[in-house]
Amino acid sequence: MLLEPRYVKLSTRTGIEVRRTLPNARKRMIGAWAFVDHFGPTAQTDGMVVAAHPHSGLQTATWMIEGRVEHRDSLGSVQHLEPGQLNLMTAGRGIAHSELSLADSKTLHAVQLWIALPDAVRKMAPEFEHHANLPTFQIGSSMAKVFAGSLASQSTLSSDAKLYSPLVGAEIRIPAGAKLELELDPSFEHGILLVEGQLAVHDVDLPLHSMEYLEVGTRLVDFENSGDSEAIIVLLGGEPFDEPIVMWWNFIERSHEEILEMREKWNNRDSGIPEFADNIGGWTPAPELPNLTLRARL
Ligand code: MN
Repeated sequence: MLLEPRYVKLSTRTGIEVRRTLPNARKRMIGAWAFVDHFGPTAQTDGMVVAAHPHSGLQTATWMIEGRVEHRDSLGSVQHLEPGQLNLMTAGRGIAHSELSLADSKTLHAVQLWIALPDAVRKMAPEFEHHANLPTFQIGSSMAKVFAGSLASQSTLSSDAKLYSPLVGAEIRIPAGAKLELELDPSFEHGILLVEGQLAVHDVDLPLHSMEYLEVGTRLVDFENSGDSEAIIVLLGGEPFDEPIVMWWNFIERSHEEILEMREKWNNRDSGIPEFADNIGGWTPAPELPNLTLRARL
């Protein structure tokens, strides 16, 4: 099943536009992966300048394909992020962060992913992790870098990223003209997002910036790069997440009331989340809630 992106303008200083493949009208989540935004490649002048804003009930996983960003958060973290590294922020009961792309790189190309936290841990204290040494391996002529969990075909090589449900996340680069047959964990559903180049999945061309969804039970996937440059995919997978959630703005909660409370506390600057200094300044208020009751759903 093909998941096509929606184009969404973010409320940031530079008004950047992202391609959002999850949540999608055809599929809300893949495992606990609840949100997939793909940004760029774009010139640095349209870079990322996202002032302090909160999150709850989720983890953010930021993955650069090109360019560098500076992450700061309410735990006091200051972390530059480069291609091949992972920033993983666990919001738990509440965290705030800001993101600024650094002008020393010409091009910015990235994905930002959200992972829903299971009910048992969603009120945990916030955490931040940076991973610079992630397992990388060659499969035929293709290169895979696993940033979350492990790939079925290389289950002895796992990312150390701390996760709270069974998941996989990997970047795979397939050279021009190459084929790749990749083993998958059949207890997972998967999504394959094509971020660069040309690629056929099971002999069907996958449009650039779209995601191919593979249901639970899929054991093998075939890729063929028929283009004349490298193809890059982001592979996401996980066990279907069976808890109904409410996702609104930057929060993942379980009820309308919880969303309302997070919103009010943040906007009243009474969230208990410490304020922090960065190179952006300012603070992003939550927008108005829609005039309806948000309902938890799967
Ligand atoms: Mn954020």
